[in-house]
Amino acid sequence: MNIIHTDCLVIGAGLAGSAYALHAARAGLDVQLLSLGGPSEANSDWAQGGIIFDTSARPDSLARDIMTASDGMANPAAIDQLVKEGPLAVRELLLDELDVAFDREPDGELELTREGGHSERRIIHAKDLTGRAILTSVANCVDATSNITRQMGSVAIDLLTLSHNTGRPADRFEPLTCFGAYVLDGKSGEPLAIVARKTILATGGLGQIFQHTTNRQGTVGHGYAMAYRVGARLIDLEYVQFHPTVFYGLNAPHFLITEALRGEGAVLKNGRGENFMNDVHELGSLAPRDIVSRAIHHEMVSSGDACVYLDLAALKPDYIRERFPYIYQRCKESGVDITTDPIPVVPAAHYSCGGVHTDLNGRTNVRHLNAIGETGCTGLHGANRLASTSLLECLTGAKFTAQADIADIGALEFRLPEPPAWESPQRDADPTLIQQDLSLVRQTMWNYAGIVRSDRRLTRARRILLELREEVQSFYSDCRLSRDLIELRNAVQTALLVVHAAKLNPDSKGCHFVVDDD
Ligand SMILES: Cc1cc2nc3c(=O)[nH]c(=O)nc-3n(C[C@H](O)[C@H](O)[C@H](O)COP(=O)(O)OP(=O)(O)OC[C@H]3O[C@@H](n4cnc5c(N)ncnc54)[C@H](O)[C@@H]3O)c2cc1C
Repeated sequence: MNIIHTDCLVIGAGLAGSAYALHAARAGLDVQLLSLGGPSEANSDWAQGGIIFDTSARPDSLARDIMTASDGMANPAAIDQLVKEGPLAVRELLLDELDVAFDREPDGELELTREGGHSERRIIHAKDLTGRAILTSVANCVDATSNITRQMGSVAIDLLTLSHNTGRPADRFEPLTCFGAYVLDGKSGEPLAIVARKTILATGGLGQIFQHTTNRQGTVGHGYAMAYRVGARLIDLEYVQFHPTVFYGLNAPHFLITEALRGEGAVLKNGRGENFMNDVHELGSLAPRDIVSRAIHHEMVSSGDACVYLDLAALKPDYIRERFPYIYQRCKESGVDITTDPIPVVPAAHYSCGGVHTDLNGRTNVRHLNAIGETGCTGLHGANRLASTSLLECLTGAKFTAQADIADIGALEFRLPEPPAWESPQRDADPTLIQQDLSLVRQTMWNYAGIVRSDRRLTRARRILLELREEVQSFYSDCRLSRDLIELRNAVQTALLVVHAAKLNPDSKGCHFVVDDD
């Protein structure tokens, strides 16, 4: 088995992983940067609305909005870090160094927009393709940095720990200590080991464990499942945010319809043309996401309609084409001209507010294992995330985590061992079974652990998933590893973690909404 040695193994090349890689590499560390696909194949590339850049003299107002959106559950220390340190992280990397092409006013000032749950305009954007503008600039910079090696198409399988992977008794290695990961090599298709002094989970969220989602394929919570298997602590996984507005069309692809449209005056209406959000919340269509998603769900269930509509009548056609070119074009390809017609929308799984528990420097309870971006959870989002906080969290978390690693990487107190070779069976798994099992996970989660949950539904989900986990485990032991098999194994595990967290929490808060059975 091939073994690579490095200082920092970064699993995931979205905004969080890429930004961490840049910081670490600039301090002279060697970085291996893994991704399932190419540099732009990450949810970060799909972010539309923008990134918070709040330089106002009243940062308390942002802190309040985050706390309110979180249903009072956010960690005040994490909010404080984001509010105080976020603007500098954006300025240093995105504005001063990379000069990302954010939209500007005629006088050259950054154009500010607003999204749901924000009491002020404080979000900067690049049309409705903000994530692409940011990640492209960051990825180009990564590619120009000599001590970062990209491992594209390489899939992390499992983390290496001193207790699990040295062949010596587990109790000799307390506390739990990580030293890299087994990886399915994108080039050879064979497992290899990357032995690292620091391992950073930056694998994004879990939207693809649900049937309807805004997330890219492959986003099944790889990092959560890997962390769980080595004994890392996970928190708040019941808080899965459902985005209220995803394009709905029979046989048409689903894609996100940014909240910024509502920030600019679009309103939600039901099939009878009624603005139903006015009766639900004082902010109407701009209420926090959990409230809007549930209101749409309620509207759809009570009317029997397959979707509701986003009415853009308040926005001028030229403005729509200029400000939202991506959404205009995508809707047009699906037969809807949004300068004249309302957009049919439904809610879909979007963001995991919970994740691998970390402190404010990305540290987990496993030594030398960090988690950042959507994979990590400092408690910043509590029970529900405020729009456009996640790209900012990726940047800020990456910076602080890298700084902490740079400061202590020289003082590692154990010699990195050689992990045992991976024993790989030669039989291929049946692709039809893998696809079928993955769709069963996604349907189970959507129907029984989705926007509205109950104990009976969650119990049923757990039963189905436990049985599936056994079956998948036998594929996993008997068959040759493939990306699809790794994905299925992690999807089932992540789904079980979400269901378990949801079952343990009977209180409806933020995006976890529980009804009584009867
Ligand atoms: C459609 C959409 C619109 C959004 N709009 C906004 C917005 O306007 N503003 C905002 O702040 N947030 C927005 N978000 C949320 C935000 O984009 C994400 O939370 C954020 O980009 C996550 O970044 P990340 O670096 O943590 O993960 P990602 O960008 O998801 O990257 C994950 C990386 O991990 C890799 N990976 C995963 N598993 C493995 C494995 N086993 N082995 C190797 N590599 C692996 C993937 O290939 C990828 O490179 C949006 C999200 C979506 C889906």
